[in-house]
Amino acid sequence: MVQLSKGASSIYGEAAFEVLAKAQALERQGKSIFHFEIGEPDMETPENIANAGIRAIQEKKTHYVPSIGLLELRKAVQDEVEKTRDYRPDLKQIVITPGLKPGIFFSMLSIVNPRDEVIYQDPGYPTYGSVTSFLGAKSILVPLLEENEFRMNPDDIKERITEKTKLIVVNSPQNPTGSVMTKSELEDIAGLAEEHDLYVVSDEIYSKMTYDTKHYTPTGRDEAKERTVLLDGFSKYYAMTGWRLGYMVVPCKMADRLQNFLVSAVSCTAAFTQWAGVEALTGDQSFIPEMMARFKEKRDRIVKGLNSIPGFTCLSPKGAFYAFPNITGTDMTSQECADHLLYKAGVAVLPGTAFGPYGEGYLRFSYATILENIDAAVKRIRESFE
Ligand code: PMP
Repeated sequence: MVQLSKGASSIYGEAAFEVLAKAQALERQGKSIFHFEIGEPDMETPENIANAGIRAIQEKKTHYVPSIGLLELRKAVQDEVEKTRDYRPDLKQIVITPGLKPGIFFSMLSIVNPRDEVIYQDPGYPTYGSVTSFLGAKSILVPLLEENEFRMNPDDIKERITEKTKLIVVNSPQNPTGSVMTKSELEDIAGLAEEHDLYVVSDEIYSKMTYDTKHYTPTGRDEAKERTVLLDGFSKYYAMTGWRLGYMVVPCKMADRLQNFLVSAVSCTAAFTQWAGVEALTGDQSFIPEMMARFKEKRDRIVKGLNSIPGFTCLSPKGAFYAFPNITGTDMTSQECADHLLYKAGVAVLPGTAFGPYGEGYLRFSYATILENIDAAVKRIRESFE
């Protein structure tokens, strides 16, 4: 029988969508479920941004546009990077993508060969491992330890660099732990990449989502001109997950190649979405601090609540909107505990192992929900263990 490609059997999906399907099946049977599994803000896209998109459609901006993105949006990104990362990239370095994920996919496709080694965080965002596996490359995991507040330690990266290492993937603020790396840690990683002639892809999708701490990028060292790639997007902090809009800042030689990946895979990012993006970056920014103030309240509430459950302990994360409690005190595995919560308490969460083997002993709660649901879910979990 004719077989599918090797890549087709090596690429893999995301547990969040599987758990959502299970939770929805229970809801169809009449069960009440609190949702903590999906990683998206519970706010709507700000009206000024949505209206810019609607206006663009009405103005018939519904045709093909340049595959690397609209000049207007690329210029807005150029200003944005200068404001937030302290360097001004050349326009040639800026590429617009339909969501941040194609940025991960296409940058890895541009950098990684079969049998190369790719270093990334574990627990970590599943896409890095999935694409590494698809490319026939080897995943080299850096465990994130609770003792180190789940931050990746540059010394652990250094120990893992070999002749075959090609790429280090960094994600700060991090999914699933909510950790935020320090300036010096990120500078050390950029330094290691320079010393060993490696690429760094920095996934900064939660860049504006920190609590009482600053976001830093490792891409400042070479201003994304030689070996670092900055990925950011509109999905999370502008509540635009469904619009599909992200951007990349890359070395010029890579930008040419990316153009061809985009032409071959997607042609371009939707024009009206990009006009909404121009408004997002250049319009009123008050949405973000307001959202973050609400998220902070939710974070404090869920961390306190989780710490009140026997067998659970939970650090207070410094970024994103995820809590990552240690559940080893329940004597269950992550998967057993996640199933227990879903079927016995009606609370949908992800097992830490959905983010890699070092996620064992933890759960991920996406706390982008209302305070009442956080309180009610904590109560139900506590009762389910009584
Ligand atoms: N990177 C990380 C770390 C994420 O958590 C997510 C969203 N869950 C993405 C990338 C994907 O972003 P987008 O929806 O813009 O493709």
